[in-house]
Amino acid sequence: MAIESTPTWLGEDLVRGMPHFISPAWVKDRSHFDAAATAAAWEKIGFEVVHFLTKHHDGFMLWPSEFCPDDQPEIDYFGQQVAECARRGIKSIAYYSVGHDNWAGSKHPEWLVRDQHGDLPDTSGWNSPTWMCLSSGYADFALGQMEELARKYEISGLWLDICGLPVDENYCFCDNCRRGFTEWAGAANLDNMKGSEEMWQYKLHIHSEFVKKTRAVLVKHGRDPVVIFNGAGAPYNKRYAQRFEGSDSESSECHDPLLVGTIGRLHRNMHKPFELLSCSETTWVHPVLKPDTLVELEAFAATAHGGTYTVGITHTPEGWLSPGNIDRLAAITSKVKANRDLLIGTEPIYDVGVVSSWDNREMRRVMPQIWRWVDFVRQGHFLFNVLPGFHNLEAQRVVIIPGGLHIGDDDADRLRRYVEGGGNLIVESPTPRRGGDGGYLLADLLGVEYDGLSESQWHFMEPTDDALREDGMTDDPLMAASTADIVTLNGAETVTNLVHQFVPMDLAHMVWTQANAPQQDPAAEPGITIHRLGKGSVAFSVCQLSSRDPKDDTSPWLTTLSQNLVELMLGERSLELTAGPLVEVVANRQGDRAIVHLLNHAYGPAPALRTWQASDVAGAGYSVIQSRGETDFTAALKLRLNVVRLGLKPTSVTVVPDGESLEIRGDGDWVEVTVPPLGIHKTLVIE
Ligand SMILES: [Zn+2]
Repeated sequence: MAIESTPTWLGEDLVRGMPHFISPAWVKDRSHFDAAATAAAWEKIGFEVVHFLTKHHDGFMLWPSEFCPDDQPEIDYFGQQVAECARRGIKSIAYYSVGHDNWAGSKHPEWLVRDQHGDLPDTSGWNSPTWMCLSSGYADFALGQMEELARKYEISGLWLDICGLPVDENYCFCDNCRRGFTEWAGAANLDNMKGSEEMWQYKLHIHSEFVKKTRAVLVKHGRDPVVIFNGAGAPYNKRYAQRFEGSDSESSECHDPLLVGTIGRLHRNMHKPFELLSCSETTWVHPVLKPDTLVELEAFAATAHGGTYTVGITHTPEGWLSPGNIDRLAAITSKVKANRDLLIGTEPIYDVGVVSSWDNREMRRVMPQIWRWVDFVRQGHFLFNVLPGFHNLEAQRVVIIPGGLHIGDDDADRLRRYVEGGGNLIVESPTPRRGGDGGYLLADLLGVEYDGLSESQWHFMEPTDDALREDGMTDDPLMAASTADIVTLNGAETVTNLVHQFVPMDLAHMVWTQANAPQQDPAAEPGITIHRLGKGSVAFSVCQLSSRDPKDDTSPWLTTLSQNLVELMLGERSLELTAGPLVEVVANRQGDRAIVHLLNHAYGPAPALRTWQASDVAGAGYSVIQSRGETDFTAALKLRLNVVRLGLKPTSVTVVPDGESLEIRGDGDWVEVTVPPLGIHKTLVIE
């Protein structure tokens, strides 16, 4: 009898393969393809599950589909791989490109996504100019092909790529969508509803119905009912995948070890299996390999959070695989698997959480400030979570709400309960106001009242609480590339003053770049306030601390101020690491022991999370990938453990897999160990 729930194996493989055999119809020679040799390669790497392409965006089918009798491949590339893997005990999941199919789109232009004028979306930069509409006959074609795959081959699930429309209100207005919307919504006309919530709901409806039908196809043929779609779970993909439910596993393309850790934390809140994707080459389907060090860093960054590291591997269009890539992946995955018992079945330990948007449309706007706060807390070595909206607040003692995030009435109630129960909030401007232009929605929590907006685009912040001046902070006022709210205190106290420019800068009053100098001897005006409320407290910054300054690379002061503010609100960390900002710390609990992962992003491509603006990366200061394979990259690190917070009295701290035992110093509420030079990563078992 068919099983209809998610099988347990889905969350248990630490590393998974995603070979890309993209070989469009125009390729004349596929003679390097060898299904037995590739299956042997996957076995050597240690994959238990592999996502195999059935067709990519070009639409060339790698199996002899009944639907396309005139366009058959020379041999059954897909079927041979599935059979060879089955002989080796490796499960095959069938990758199917849903949203893009050049072949189907060219044969059936009536199946294409169109705007109100009948024009196609701009897909420049993609190798496929087609975007297929699931309201059209294409949905039946795709479901028919997937039914064929489930019937003919021993597959363990389907992996749907580009399962979503462009995140753009201009699509889709094809005839099928117009008709379908009117039937779904009653009498409403789609053209009148452009950009409305109903239009977005209709898009979600079409896609979630499609996903349900793909699962039914698997159940019908007794296959494991595993459906995964690209982008499931984390609303940050910019081109597609409006977030919707229905995936058995969260699945996110990351392609950066910092993003792997960020999205991994985000997914982990959902208590579902999740995979984090990156490539062994510099990007998908690229002829150049990433350095071994970077691949290893990404593999450990993903698995530290209990996720599956799904690695992209390129076949050339002729079918060739890089033997060197296979060998080094085998070496890296064997290191990951050696830590298996420490990676599976753990719970995260968090001190701090950054609220992320849970809406793809909003995320396109607010990602820079969310990522900036994530950078602040990661570089400050806090144990941090990335929250899926205003959920799972209780998992940490401090919650940070980046500026510009929508906060609904329900969210505000959750925040009130969190603070009353002893939670601490950090809120920065801009924060929602009632009716858009009234008092602050969170006025009772903030303990300040909104009095207006300062007219200048630049301000200074002058900490008055010594705790905010820690860690090498300058004594000068700190410049913020941000507007400022003018507020009056209503229960809160000031810990930082807002300071204006001595003359607001404009074209007639400009000495040099950016902003004019700060006022001397300014009147005290609230800049950062703290409101103690119930068992908790709420900090509010009238400037956006996460705003990006073109001089960020030489002006660390708002980063330091923000980190000091987090420290002040937290009171006491669960652990303290003395290391440079490129070292990331992850801590998990597993029964009576704690497992600490230290990841060295000096081997990564960038010191800060990238956003969609290239200038943000430049502002963060690009570093060069270290590819020489050093093992002694940093000095020994000091790690202090808060015995009370961690709830364990360590008698041993062991570095794995080396097995080196570290001397534990101190016997009070804090104990201390010296971690040997880090290399790419280290895992410590504390028990
Ligand atoms: Zn359509």
